[in-house]
Amino acid sequence: MAYDQDNIFAKILRGEIPVEKIYEDGFAIAFPDIDPQAPTHVLIIPTGPYESLDDFAKNGTVAEIAGFWRAVGAIGRQLGVDETGYRTLANTGPDAHQEVMHFHVHLFAGKKLGPMLVR
Ligand code: AMP
Repeated sequence: MAYDQDNIFAKILRGEIPVEKIYEDGFAIAFPDIDPQAPTHVLIIPTGPYESLDDFAKNGTVAEIAGFWRAVGAIGRQLGVDETGYRTLANTGPDAHQEVMHFHVHLFAGKKLGPMLVR
């Protein structure tokens, strides 16, 4: 499946949809989720056109992959949640209910987050 240049995160990267960027470097940007599910709920996306974690893991360069995950850790520290803790989640494909087809990592924090999945 080809990357859809009109997905909402591609538009955010091009500056066509405004967001409050809380982090930006050459590899990633981060901004608050529009529908937060925790006191802190941030989305971290790579600057390159990758539709999913699978696409990114398969086709991202080593520099992009390293830079992206360095950014995720830096954002946790920037938010001040590296010691209290946080959860990252990347929905991939239909069973995981991925809605936006640009790879993104959710970062949740700010309360006890409970068990991983509803059983
Ligand atoms: P997922 O289900 O993992 O694909 O998550 C997509 C996320 O994008 C959801 O949590 C949405 O609330 C969030 N979202 C959609 N549009 C925007 C937007 N314009 N700004 C910030 N977050 C958004």
